[in-house]
Amino acid sequence: MRFKSTRGYEKTYNGAEAVILGLAPDGGLFLPEGLDYAAFPWETLLPLSTMEMSEKILQFFLDDFDDMHAVVTRAYEGRFDTDELTPLKKAGDRFVLELFHGPTAAFKDVALSVLPVLMEEAKKKENVKEETVVLVATSGDTGSAALYGFKDRDNIRIIVFYPKNGVSLVQEAQMTKAEGSNVLAAAVKGNFDDAQTGVKKIFTAAPESETKEKGFALSSANSINIGRLVPQIVYYFKAYAELYKAHEVTLGDPVDFTVPTGNFGDILAGYFAKLLGLPVGKLICASNANNVLFDFFTSGRYDKNREFVKTTSPSMDILVSSNLERLLYMASGEDAAFTKALMEKLSAEGVYAIPDDMLMKIKASFDAAFIGEPEVKKTIGDVFKATGYVIDPHTAVAWAAATGFMKDTDRPMVVLSTASPFKFSGAVLDAIGESVPENEFDAMDRLSEISGILPPKGIGSLREKAVRFTDVTEKEDMFTYVMNKIGEKA
Ligand SMILES: *Cc1c(COP(=O)(O)O)cnc(C)c1O
Repeated sequence: MRFKSTRGYEKTYNGAEAVILGLAPDGGLFLPEGLDYAAFPWETLLPLSTMEMSEKILQFFLDDFDDMHAVVTRAYEGRFDTDELTPLKKAGDRFVLELFHGPTAAFKDVALSVLPVLMEEAKKKENVKEETVVLVATSGDTGSAALYGFKDRDNIRIIVFYPKNGVSLVQEAQMTKAEGSNVLAAAVKGNFDDAQTGVKKIFTAAPESETKEKGFALSSANSINIGRLVPQIVYYFKAYAELYKAHEVTLGDPVDFTVPTGNFGDILAGYFAKLLGLPVGKLICASNANNVLFDFFTSGRYDKNREFVKTTSPSMDILVSSNLERLLYMASGEDAAFTKALMEKLSAEGVYAIPDDMLMKIKASFDAAFIGEPEVKKTIGDVFKATGYVIDPHTAVAWAAATGFMKDTDRPMVVLSTASPFKFSGAVLDAIGESVPENEFDAMDRLSEISGILPPKGIGSLREKAVRFTDVTEKEDMFTYVMNKIGEKA
């Protein structure tokens, strides 16, 4: 399988190269070239375990990797709460796919467990000898999932920068207490933008020629890497397989999915599942008050020139959904010039529009809704009262969005649950009408008492663990910090 850029770059790459590069040299995103999706034997996956399904899907896309069984085993074994990886639960009139059983209790673990192993393998295949230094700026979730995913990976090191007073107590503990000999987290005096700008500057300040000489290569764990997208396809198969086994569907019956969306990666994986033949009905793109995607699906016009709203579902507070570029490319009949023009317009003016016929085509598979803050809170409370099931604010956005669509259909609805409620114990307690202890770990205990469920292993055990990282850096000093740290080990 060769991978090509959505913006028409002349060269194509094998899977290993695409994983190492992350982004195409012209700024486009990688997609498989000439892949016959319909050739995928999707029915044969249904009896398999989640890890076996994952292996088959990854092998189909990244066929230049020799031993996907080993990749998947190394990625998941012993790292998740359950071998099911993403169990399906019934709650009230719908199904909830719990994607939060990984080490950091958020769905990003599913893909960020696989990417580092793919990177290890890709480096071996491509004979890359330099140590890879993965730099991540995080507002919380991605950083911790990346730290755990890259933990103890061979010849790869990861450094995560987070804003000193910009993450929650639990998120900070997840980073400062992260285990592994090759991981490091440092606080930056500043906000998330400062941390992100600092990381971008390091990439420009340390050109490849120079880092190569010193024996390392900088990389990122960016969500647009094809090695992060493909591992997410599996959980749509997992959900369908469970519904099939439970006789909720007969083979071929379509199932709808509602996905709490930010960067459009998670939901795009659902579209790939559909292309592979899985009977996916509608994919409902659920946004919070940052409803730029809702407007796009409604009008065909993407406009990021709007106020950025801070919500209780921070991982969906996004105005530029990078992975949408892949959908635009596919829906335009793989028109790279067209896609490139849209993306250039987005970066220059913050806005672009697509023709009506293209919007119609997209809407055959997608629908959209957005949910404001008061309804998110009400939903968490209502669901708990009606079913006893506790959901986090991201999941609540999807739950409420799904409710609107279920009125018009009797197809089974699967809501993707992207974070454990224990990651947002305060907001959840407040929504179900309980008092909120000031300390986040106390809030977790309280939520555990009320819900009768234990916090996920990864965050439940955090309190007792020792802090390993206490470095704080000025935003101006991030480059020096990284260079010193690299020097220390060498
Ligand atoms: C990242 C994230 C999302 C959004 O997923 P995308 O793939 O960026 O659309 C939703 N919920 C949670 C909890 C997340 O961490």
